[in-house]
Amino acid sequence: MFVFLSRLVMLVIALSVLRSVVAFLQGLWTDLAGANPAPRRTPAAANGGTTVLQQDPVCGTYVPTETSLKRIVDGKVLHFCSNDCRDRYKA
Ligand SMILES: [Zn+2]
Repeated sequence: MFVFLSRLVMLVIALSVLRSVVAFLQGLWTDLAGANPAPRRTPAAANGGTTVLQQDPVCGTYVPTETSLKRIVDGKVLHFCSNDCRDRYKA
């Protein structure tokens, strides 16, 4: 009976060791697979890194020139973040 029990204990230990080895190998594989992640595109790189920010003279927000609302005052192009700011600006 004791022989049977000790063999059972040995089997359980062997299984748990095997399980941890498998888990270790799986972790190793995951590390290898994740070693070369897809290159991340930063917001600046997404539009070619040519984004120029201009300050909204009304609210002070910096807005990209590509998406800003423009108004020419005294030959100068002013950039606004919204129609509201553009309308509020008194030249
Ligand atoms: Zn604004």
